[in-house]
Amino acid sequence: MEIQYLGTAGWYFTASGGALLIDPYFTRVPLRRLAFGPLVPDAEMVRRYTPPADWILVSHSHFDHLLDVPVVAQITGAEVYASRQSCDLLRVLGVPPKQMRPIAAGNRLALGPFTVEVYEVPHRQMIGRIPAYGPLREGLAPPLRARDYRMRELFSFRVEAGGVRVLVASGVEREPPVPTDVLLVGADASRAQLARILSAVQPRLVLPNHWDDMFRPLSEPARPSLQMPQTLGLLRRVDLVAWSAHVREHAPAARVLVPERFRAYDIRAK
Ligand SMILES: [Zn+2]
Repeated sequence: MEIQYLGTAGWYFTASGGALLIDPYFTRVPLRRLAFGPLVPDAEMVRRYTPPADWILVSHSHFDHLLDVPVVAQITGAEVYASRQSCDLLRVLGVPPKQMRPIAAGNRLALGPFTVEVYEVPHRQMIGRIPAYGPLREGLAPPLRARDYRMRELFSFRVEAGGVRVLVASGVEREPPVPTDVLLVGADASRAQLARILSAVQPRLVLPNHWDDMFRPLSEPARPSLQMPQTLGLLRRVDLVAWSAHVREHAPAARVLVPERFRAYDIRAK
């Protein structure tokens, strides 16, 4: 199996017999546009970066995970797997119902060479609350604003192919304590959060998730993301050096890899 980091929380898994996308997001709306204008996918950017795919998994409905999915679905023809609320939102955004598969925690999906287990996990708090949380507003019609991309469920996925298990951790708290070979975990996870998840899943390879600055276009070099404080505090950038040190401290036998975007890494069974 090969995996590629696509920026933000986007990942691309390939194995003989198919390709799987998770949370593809290439438009990268600039920060100044978030608060005001409606959000529209940049179809040219999406077309430039979307690889061939058979299946798309959506972790939750926030714009940085869902905005581009309708365009990616149209380009690839892939089936879209998402929570019922995310499917409702995708229908508003024009994805044909026959292309969507609603999923829920506890599901086990057989997608060609991949087996995917679906877990529900808590979303990060930002300054004490979960942003854009709750049911969809009545009568939604595109183009939508960032706050219309409301979520209720957040999924983490354990993807297995060819004997290799990859846990795509979407949150930083109460991730599923399932054994895994490769862990993708938030670059903003604290030392204590990393200690808990690493001891629970015992990975041999750890990569940061959601680590690059999603407000910077993909045409520019990656730099670490701004990190919203979980409680009141200062806005600062994710510190990958500290993050790597914390991973090494709590999983001394594991390898740590900060992936380059769009570079394929071969992940083999032990
Ligand atoms: Zn979110």
